[in-house]
Amino acid sequence: NLTCVTGARTTRILVEDGVATGVEYADEKTRVRTQAKAIREVLLCAGAVQSPQILQLSGIGDPAALTAAGIETVHALPGVGQNLQDHLDVTLSWACPQPITIYSQRKGLKTLLVGINYLLFKKGIGRRQFLESGAFLKSRPDLDRPDLQVHCVLAVMQNHGKTVVNRDGFTFHVCQLRPESRGRVGLRSADPFDDPAIFANYLSAEEDRRALREGVRMMREVARQPALDPYRSEELFPGENVESDEAIDAWIRSAAETIYHPVGTCRMGADGDPMAVVDAQLRVRGLKGLRVIDASVMPTLVGGNTNAPTIMIAEKAADMIRGLPAPAPDDAEIAA
Ligand SMILES: Cc1cc2nc3c(=O)[nH]c(=O)nc-3n(C[C@H](O)[C@H](O)[C@H](O)COP(=O)(O)OP(=O)(O)OC[C@H]3O[C@@H](n4cnc5c(N)ncnc54)[C@H](O)[C@@H]3O)c2cc1C
Repeated sequence: NLTCVTGARTTRILVEDGVATGVEYADEKTRVRTQAKAIREVLLCAGAVQSPQILQLSGIGDPAALTAAGIETVHALPGVGQNLQDHLDVTLSWACPQPITIYSQRKGLKTLLVGINYLLFKKGIGRRQFLESGAFLKSRPDLDRPDLQVHCVLAVMQNHGKTVVNRDGFTFHVCQLRPESRGRVGLRSADPFDDPAIFANYLSAEEDRRALREGVRMMREVARQPALDPYRSEELFPGENVESDEAIDAWIRSAAETIYHPVGTCRMGADGDPMAVVDAQLRVRGLKGLRVIDASVMPTLVGGNTNAPTIMIAEKAADMIRGLPAPAPDDAEIAA
């Protein structure tokens, strides 16, 4: 009893008299539009970037922003697209004087041997994932929980691995887990095939700059430990001359990368919270028959990766929709 339409893009949610009655979607190639009617509810699950885009394309959002994009307001909800949060990460790399990291182990024809060894014997570096150690750390001792996540990679890894560095080395990723900076997702135009406008606002809060700066210094302290003497030679990125707060900040600004954990743009909130987009049952406030179920509903970014928490949100939503007795938090709990 499920029809799954692929190669299609949802262009808007159909709303009649305050009730979501279905969706309109377009074939990706022909752009021919079709409408699908909902018998009970519409469930919007397009992620933290595109759920707010689709809501805004449907006239659900901040009236001023909708008017600016040439869209008539169907339901005023100023929180749509606001409160964007994401995890920002920097990678520090050191050269390794020994031919033992990924570079030497898969140089030239060795890549072939790696593949054969794995396929035939399930052995060798082909079965490793190279992010073999990590840590959750506090950037200052008075914090009640970690605010930095660290991964160690056995390669010189910059620019998501797109910058090829032909030498042995290792990299420490350091990611700030609890950003205070907030961005937003808006519309560039009323065209559903246009990309949304993403204002990430990374590092706009001083606390975020401080935490990452401290993370850089902590990673250097780890790399300089005597146990790593045989494996570490010069610091490649950012380089030892990047030392002052200003220099580290500038390097972070130039080198930091998202690790793709956007959340918060249709955030859940209690009654009376004007910026809340959905309630505790993930129903869009002020409309009937429409829920948002994805990472966008998180009010605050979790202090870790977002995939499992998003699956958990979806599982819980499935229980709520089916009317199973899983206790949903009430608005007072969310407010607390
Ligand atoms: C490169 C990358 C690496 C990641 N690595 C990790 C990791 O290691 N660990 C971890 O925990 N998390 C990771 N994440 C984050 C994790 O994938 C997300 O937090 C999670 O997928 C969010 O789920 P979601 O349902 O909110 O959105 P999504 O998974 O993005 O699902 C939204 C879906 O909606 C579809 N969609 C959007 N707009 C439309 C439209 N207009 N019409 C029709 N369909 C539409 C999209 O195609 C997509 O399939 C990674 C993300 C990326 C991008």
